[in-house]
Amino acid sequence: MVITVIGGGAAGMMAAFKAKEAEPEASVFLLEKNEKLGKKIFITGKGRGNLTNAAELPDFFGSYLRNPRFLYSALYGFTNQELIGLLERGGCRVKTERGGRVFPVSGHAYSITDSLKGLLKKAGVHIAYRSEVREIRLRDGRVCGVVTNRESYHADRVIVATGGLSYPSTGSTGDGYRFAREAGMEVTACYPSLVSLEPEEEDWYPLRGLKLRNVKVRITDEDGKLYYEDFGELDFTNAGLGGPLALSASCHITEYLNCEKRKARRLLTLHIDLKPAMEEQELDERLLRELRASQTKALRNALGSLLPASLLPVFLRRLSRRGVDSGRRADEVSRAERREILSLLRDFSYTLRGTGGFREAIVTMGGVSVRDINPKTMESKRVKGLYFAGEVLDVDAYTGGFNMQAAFSTGALAGRSAAASLREA
Ligand code: FAD
Repeated sequence: MVITVIGGGAAGMMAAFKAKEAEPEASVFLLEKNEKLGKKIFITGKGRGNLTNAAELPDFFGSYLRNPRFLYSALYGFTNQELIGLLERGGCRVKTERGGRVFPVSGHAYSITDSLKGLLKKAGVHIAYRSEVREIRLRDGRVCGVVTNRESYHADRVIVATGGLSYPSTGSTGDGYRFAREAGMEVTACYPSLVSLEPEEEDWYPLRGLKLRNVKVRITDEDGKLYYEDFGELDFTNAGLGGPLALSASCHITEYLNCEKRKARRLLTLHIDLKPAMEEQELDERLLRELRASQTKALRNALGSLLPASLLPVFLRRLSRRGVDSGRRADEVSRAERREILSLLRDFSYTLRGTGGFREAIVTMGGVSVRDINPKTMESKRVKGLYFAGEVLDVDAYTGGFNMQAAFSTGALAGRSAAASLREA
């Protein structure tokens, strides 16, 4: 009785462990094409490993963008608390930080992998490194084996946990989508998500390194249709617009910006309200105060206290394009000019050209269609004995530990189900 798991990331490690735990008599193989397990885990949470979220389980579902209901059995079958308990059993103690984000106490993501590796070893899972699966063998609508770069294996059950397309340098190159298609399953279009946004206007470039805290962002098309709106932090990075607001926004517009029919579509604009906490009149009064205090000084000096230093020159250039000369005396600024300043403070906008690519996307949106998967077992509805788990599925979430938890929970369910179906056979 052989269960083969393809891919040694979060989902695959958990699947292999749970399969062996549930059916100790089975031979469980974990095939990983890299020279080590969990390459992607290593870089999660900026290397600190945001492995799950401490939120109550019912609150998890609002964080999944695609197919949250599909995850119901998986999440309730292996909860965040059970994950934490298991990792701690393997020696990875955890702590909870802002926003319920859970990290290893060590401060290092590799503590997660070390814990899982210890559990896998103790359970007796066979791990084969540098083993790249090229093909899944099927016979009479069932799996019967896998072919790797080295050899062919017989397998009674196969769990595909090969990840998505994001950060291909970690080994996630979309192989699972090919396996699914070859098994006659549907794969939905894939897009990079939780990824930076690329502005059209070039004046973002000198702003790299700037973090705009407590701003409001709205994304609309030319007809004013709203695609995304939230408060928080927006960062200017080497890749364009990043930080929590841009990453979350990307989930809502990546399909729009990256789909092939995009050229026929309307342009999207990201509007930044630089002073969202102030009412219109309050902001006007504040501006008036600054202008009066600056008296004979130039307008540019008066605006210095309202804006971050690196943003000021860019802001002034945009103002001058609206006919407001930043060199004029602060106390001579007219009401109409003040209106232009207020309007720019309220709507400092960028046209969006696109998003970053898969190379820098935190997660893949799209994947193996959940319509072809039994949510109670993670088994394919098309091929007996073939299971899918983790990011290869058409499931993705906001940041905060929800993507990792989905990988662990679907992995656990696939592993347990594969083992149970062997027992029943
Ligand atoms: P992966 O981790 O991609 O694992 C797939 C494995 O399969 C890889 O090891 C790969 O080498 C192997 N493989 C692929 N094809 C084959 C093949 N043919 N044969 C053999 N092996 C194969 N999520 C969070 O919840 N919190 C975070 O803080 C967080 N931060 C992130 C930061 C970054 C920079 C990135 C890129 C992602 C982050 N994520 C985070 C997302 C999260 O890491 C993933 O969603 C999750 O790890 C996916 O796990 P997985 O096991 O499904 O896939």
